[in-house]
Amino acid sequence: MPATILDGKQLAQQLRSELAEEVIEFIQNNGAVPCLAAVLVGDNPASEVYVRNKQRACEAVGIESQLHRLPGDASTDDLLKLISKLNKDAEVHGILIQLPLPPQIDKSRVLSAVSPNKDVDAFHPDNVGRLVQGRPRFLPCTPQGVQQLLIRNGIETAGKHVVVLGRSEIVGRPLSIMLSQHGTGGDATVTVCHSRSHDLPAITRQADILIVAIGRAKFVTANMVKPGAIVIDVGINRGESGVVGDVDYEAVAAVAGTITPVPGGVGPLTIAMLLRNTLRAAQSLET
Ligand code: NDP
Repeated sequence: MPATILDGKQLAQQLRSELAEEVIEFIQNNGAVPCLAAVLVGDNPASEVYVRNKQRACEAVGIESQLHRLPGDASTDDLLKLISKLNKDAEVHGILIQLPLPPQIDKSRVLSAVSPNKDVDAFHPDNVGRLVQGRPRFLPCTPQGVQQLLIRNGIETAGKHVVVLGRSEIVGRPLSIMLSQHGTGGDATVTVCHSRSHDLPAITRQADILIVAIGRAKFVTANMVKPGAIVIDVGINRGESGVVGDVDYEAVAAVAGTITPVPGGVGPLTIAMLLRNTLRAAQSLET
């Protein structure tokens, strides 16, 4: 039987229309518009596209978006000054620092300077700590998108063995923490794998739900997947043949029970979750 395809694009659209209604309600109740300020340093073409997409997505749900540009040779202090200004600006509810930053910038100092209340990417140590303690202010966008994809498609995680391939600060690590926590979309038994793990196929074949975020095109092959498993591919790899995931889609779809496509799987949900976090940041100020 062919695998069921999890359509992230459709779900993202649904989540965005739900958010648009909440935004209208917020504006009616508060007379203020939720606002996301994006900070872009330099002129990396991929970052330009990502920021433009995020701005368009904001506007489509009624969230205001600001773009603050700094030149590619800006210093850490230049960026810290801008962040301090945005932290104090009552009209700005969310702050997004587009990564990657140029090498001369101290990324960790910069991300820690964003007010935790406006840190809609959830990169600030305060927000990471809260997440680990199970009382998050914001959930990081891509892990939150994966969790929503599971919840909204009625995929039970409680008691399931979830294998997360990849332990990055942005995807694998926070996702593994979220899935092992108490409650909806959690309560899983989680194994985290990385580049030092031995015999990956033996581990990934145990997964009821396999989540892959390593940045290696078509790395996960059919022999790494248990028949009937749910496979979530977070990877985005740009090659000559276009964008492909970390999973060898054609081969794995023949074995898996359920699978996400790339593109059109997790990707669209990441931006939807950024919008959701911005609205939540604005709502947290409601009296
Ligand atoms: P990172 O490069 O930060 O982390 C990659 C992780 O994968 C590391 O933990 C690394 O292990 C592990 N890894 C790398 N190679 C192997 C291997 N051969 N075997 C086992 N583990 C390996 O990547 P990100 O988490 O930022 O991104 C992962 C993928 O997800 C990328 O394709 C990225 O483009 C995509 N992505 C997609 C998003 C979306 O919106 N859909 C958002 C963010 C990322 P170690 O720690 O040992 O080095």
